[in-house]
Amino acid sequence: MAENLDPGARAAAEQKARKAARDAARQQEPAEDRKGKEIVPPWEKDATGISLVDTHAHIDGEDFDGDREEMLSRAEKAGVVAVVTFGDTMESSARVVKLTSSHENVFAGVGVHPENAFPFTQADEDRLAAWTKEKNIVAIGEIGLDYYWEKDEEKRKLQRKMFVRQLALARDLDLPVCIHDREAHGDLMTILKTEGRKNRGVIHCFSGSWEMAKELLKLGWYIGVDGPLTYKNAAKLPEIVQNMPADRLLVETDCPYLSPLPYRGKRNEPAYVRITAECAANIRGESLADFAAQTTKNACEIYELNL
Ligand SMILES: [Zn+2]
Repeated sequence: MAENLDPGARAAAEQKARKAARDAARQQEPAEDRKGKEIVPPWEKDATGISLVDTHAHIDGEDFDGDREEMLSRAEKAGVVAVVTFGDTMESSARVVKLTSSHENVFAGVGVHPENAFPFTQADEDRLAAWTKEKNIVAIGEIGLDYYWEKDEEKRKLQRKMFVRQLALARDLDLPVCIHDREAHGDLMTILKTEGRKNRGVIHCFSGSWEMAKELLKLGWYIGVDGPLTYKNAAKLPEIVQNMPADRLLVETDCPYLSPLPYRGKRNEPAYVRITAECAANIRGESLADFAAQTTKNACEIYELNL
């Protein structure tokens, strides 16, 4: 990377490179063997009595610039009554604030994702705080730790610093947080038991063990599950979904990433939360309508959504 770039331009260039790497990884995900299977998209299924919330999405980005309104109406047809979308940089946080101002059923969190960690100033913190006063802004997020994409110890240190600072901001503002944790379980638990012990919120796209989930439940956290629940290599997730107390579970897409089967490898969107919900309801032996009602109630509780 060019040495003469200013820090802002360098951060933007690094962010672009990471997005390209993630897009490439998404394209390499195996498509499901679709032979002999008829695929009915969720918006063509009966949504009578189904009321779901996609509690973790990223719908502000260019992936949706071509069809954002159509995508939201497909979600509505699939029974998705609200979407909670999250900023991952200062720029995307500004965009989610704009989105919520013009959409009744879109709620949002503002925050800086660990992959985009930078030396956060008081002015940045003030901007985040000011955005939380806007319509339908319900959380600080997406924040957290990502040691999968970040191997550099200095930058991991910066992630921790920024995470702790945004946790403090959420406490000051009395808002829940939405947390990303990838291959950083140990440091995450340490922070949540110390600086974060008075925070509340969601560990989204949970990838830990049932043991870790139990610890988080004891500390009062909610847990979000995504499309990987539907994959053949879902590992510990089905067990966790089966054992979770009904009042702490959330379903989400993390779109445009992590499409559930049979859309794996393609762009994800909020309507597909119904597929993950169907899978989770099956595992728990519940009807989709009951599971949706309970997880929507949970979403309304933690994010204080007025639906
Ligand atoms: Zn996310």
